[in-house]
Amino acid sequence: MKNVPLASALLAALALLASPLRSADDTKAVVSAKVEADYPRLKAFYEDLHLHPELSLMEERTSGKVAVELRAAGYDVTEKFGGYGVVAVLKNGPGPVLLIRSDMDALPVEEVTGLPFASHVRVKDLSGRDVPVMHACGHDIHMTVLSGTARLLASLRDSWSGTVILIGQPAEERVAGARAMLTAGLYRQFPKPDFAIALHDETDIPSGSVGMIEGFSHANVDTATITVHGISSHGAMPYLSKDPIVLAARIIVSLQTIVSRELKGTDPAVVTVGSIHGGTKSNIIPAEVKMELTLRSYSDDVRAHLVAAVRRICRGEAIAAGLPDELMPEIDVNAAEGATSVYNDPALTQRLRGTFIAWLGAEHVVAYHPAMVSEDFSEFGRTVEHVPICMFRLGAIPAKTIAESERTGVPLVSLHSGKFAPEAEPAIKTGITAMTAAALELLPRTKK
Ligand SMILES: [Zn+2]
Ligand SMILES: [Zn+2]
Repeated sequence: MKNVPLASALLAALALLASPLRSADDTKAVVSAKVEADYPRLKAFYEDLHLHPELSLMEERTSGKVAVELRAAGYDVTEKFGGYGVVAVLKNGPGPVLLIRSDMDALPVEEVTGLPFASHVRVKDLSGRDVPVMHACGHDIHMTVLSGTARLLASLRDSWSGTVILIGQPAEERVAGARAMLTAGLYRQFPKPDFAIALHDETDIPSGSVGMIEGFSHANVDTATITVHGISSHGAMPYLSKDPIVLAARIIVSLQTIVSRELKGTDPAVVTVGSIHGGTKSNIIPAEVKMELTLRSYSDDVRAHLVAAVRRICRGEAIAAGLPDELMPEIDVNAAEGATSVYNDPALTQRLRGTFIAWLGAEHVVAYHPAMVSEDFSEFGRTVEHVPICMFRLGAIPAKTIAESERTGVPLVSLHSGKFAPEAEPAIKTGITAMTAAALELLPRTKK
């Protein structure tokens, strides 16, 4: 975005606002000037959120702040919907319904950015542990973008027609908040959206740019907890045992063949054994080993295959080891906490890409890569209403930092790191511009 001197930009914007018929370029100039004019307020809002991060399911203060901002922007706001969820509605004549979602929660990470508004917050988490808290995933940027977009759309009412629903969603990092809001009746108690969009900041896209992915962009995630039973004995007398450590080792090796030998090479999947615990001493064969796995996929078919294959391999290896029926491994797939994959509707994504190219320039709209991480924005498109969704990425790191990393091979600081310090100003301004452009595109003014 161009940096226009504030006073002249405001004057120009006011002149343009006075005229009911604006060209696309005029609208862009108005939006740009309004974002510039609103930035001091947005900066204060962002830094306050950053200073006061709250963990998932504990977003009391944060959701209150978001609600105050959206109410001040002229929206009809409902609080504490599905936990600390915020729903803000602005009806502006006939037309489609657009849902724009921001998440609100922070992470148990100690901030080491050294920023003047760095978080020093420590709290007791839900299990009673004392933990540091930081907005290490940039959800404070997302909320600030939501606030700026809310004001812009309210002040540009003559440029669009339809209904906007802004969502402040709790508990994204626990993949629980979206489901909670939908289960509470989001699509029944408020207008049903025709589109749902969201953005997420990224550390490998330059600030000032956005990244687009068509189709799958985030993975299904399931956590499997496996209890491998055995028969304990003295370590010197293994013939008296059924050794669960050897059995667990065989299971781990066999699990590697799910992705390499059972799935098509074109079906991405990950099977990771992230934790294994068994035994207490070198000369005792224990009775039990516990393992925790993360299973990641895109399609529902592959997701089901992974779970079934883990069950089959555990049972098969236990039979091969001579375990009796009552000592078969127990497999608990914690589906309630699993995440579903994000599928960016291709038609909606193409439409937004065209809009962003027109507003930001082609050089600021990059093709981004899918990842095996999770994001519960998926849930907004997973209900019986089949709402088309699109999550795009928002660049948040200076281009020169990314270039430096490519040159030196030193990896960039990632999301969820205590060192994550986004370049907030261009990211927030670009996010608001992109979200506003998306809304104007998806909610065109009906011809009179
Ligand atoms: Zn995160
Ligand atoms: Zn996040």
